[in-house]
Amino acid sequence: MHSGIVYLVGAGPGDPGLLTLRGRECLQMAQVVVYDYLANEQLLNYAPEDAERIYAGKIGGRHNQDQDEINRLLVEKGLAGRVVVRLKGGDPFVFGRGGEECEALREAGVPFEIIPGVTAALGAAAYAGIPLTHRDFTASVAFVTGQEGKGKDESAIDWDRLSLGGGTVVFYMGITTLRRSMDRMIEHGRAPQTPVALVRWATTSGQQVVTGTIADIADKAEAAGFKPPAVTIVGDVVGLRERLRWFDNRPLSGRKIIVTRAADQAGEFSSLLARLGASVLECPTIELVEPESWDGLDAAISSLSGFSWLVLTSGNAVRFFFHRLDALGLDARALGGCKVCAVGPKTAEAARGFGIRCDLVPADYKAEGVVASFSGIDISGKKILYPRADRAREIIPQELEKLGARVTTPVAYRNILPDRLSPEAIFALEKRSVDCITFTSSSTVHNLTQMLGADLLVDMLKGVAVASIGPITSGTCRELGLKVDIEPHEYTLVELAEAIERHFSA
Ligand code: SAH
Repeated sequence: MHSGIVYLVGAGPGDPGLLTLRGRECLQMAQVVVYDYLANEQLLNYAPEDAERIYAGKIGGRHNQDQDEINRLLVEKGLAGRVVVRLKGGDPFVFGRGGEECEALREAGVPFEIIPGVTAALGAAAYAGIPLTHRDFTASVAFVTGQEGKGKDESAIDWDRLSLGGGTVVFYMGITTLRRSMDRMIEHGRAPQTPVALVRWATTSGQQVVTGTIADIADKAEAAGFKPPAVTIVGDVVGLRERLRWFDNRPLSGRKIIVTRAADQAGEFSSLLARLGASVLECPTIELVEPESWDGLDAAISSLSGFSWLVLTSGNAVRFFFHRLDALGLDARALGGCKVCAVGPKTAEAARGFGIRCDLVPADYKAEGVVASFSGIDISGKKILYPRADRAREIIPQELEKLGARVTTPVAYRNILPDRLSPEAIFALEKRSVDCITFTSSSTVHNLTQMLGADLLVDMLKGVAVASIGPITSGTCRELGLKVDIEPHEYTLVELAEAIERHFSA
């Protein structure tokens, strides 16, 4: 049998964007991924769907016997000829026990490669705005474990050197032993007024920073109930944070925002909000599925040449329509002389992806805008195809028929309730830690109300800013007893994100 290989991949400190390209490549090849508590689980999405995923947190920890078990697992999978990724938080060779894993692999004759990662000290320093070295302050930096000496009489750390000389010191795993380490630094000669920063969950939207001095940081950490995982940065460079801070003072930093869009659509909006600093909880309230029957749409597609216009009022309508066209062995050419109207630029862009340049995009991105934009066009006696969701507003067919058109409205997809709501989002609402909830269509509001009950929803959203994409969705919110706090002038996700930003900066 072919021998396998084990890639020890540094996952970086949390922000999935900090994985290396080589690390991603290894994940894409993996047949087995053994991952740690501190490695961002999102990175597992890079691995093939059928790759075996093993959480080492369950078998691992700090204990030696657990580490032995991980070593055995890696050796076993490697000898079985598998391509294994050992995904470790930060860098595998910085307090990561990567050395021990490599030794075990070498002994067993299993080939391995090591892909470095951004270690927590570097991630924390960058995202807290603390240069670890700086010509005006220090020329050296040390990474030190806060756990050493437990059960040992002799310290392996040269506290004299660490304390004198003024180099920057970063302690890993040092929150529970913070007071002892700070006392030692003072005993060994570091000025008690030296600035210190604790950085927890560095580089993630949950990053927390507490600053103080060697003399008072332990008290401050205690008062704040500060918990691991965090690094402790000691040195005069910490003072630069005040001016260089950039990550945790963005407009939506510290804000928790719920996105209720369907899972396969939430991504773009979530990353808009995340880029503004928000911590986003996706709580899909809609699932999009095929219609119960394709008969209506198939009939329309089979007589496409008889239609003068195709009206598309969402990216979903675009996707479901063109996928059905494809399933029937057709493509954009089937639209021939049929003109296409899209409700807004996003929908038009989606259609562009299927080879269609839209002929008409109203200035007002909603059904009323579609109707208005047809008022100057002669559609009397013309056939219009409007593939849509099962629960859609009637305004477009009604109004276009008033203009003399004949409108066919086959169901192209259905909006259904998901099986359950995201437990994290519900938990956050119950804990009253949510700042804002976003609704990007009437269905998102309807469905959430249906799943939670109107009274409970209204109660849960007390003190939570409600952001709605536009007047129709806002109307639905109000009907259901919700007050709308944020609504953009233009009904797009970008504008909605900006309106949320303005709301919270005000
Ligand atoms: N190999 C890892 C370190 C593992 S030891 C690396 O290179 O980063 C575990 C310690 O790392 C934690 O106790 C904490 O001190 C630090 N750590 C890991 N991820 C962190 C994060 N996102 N923010 C702050 N500290 C982190």
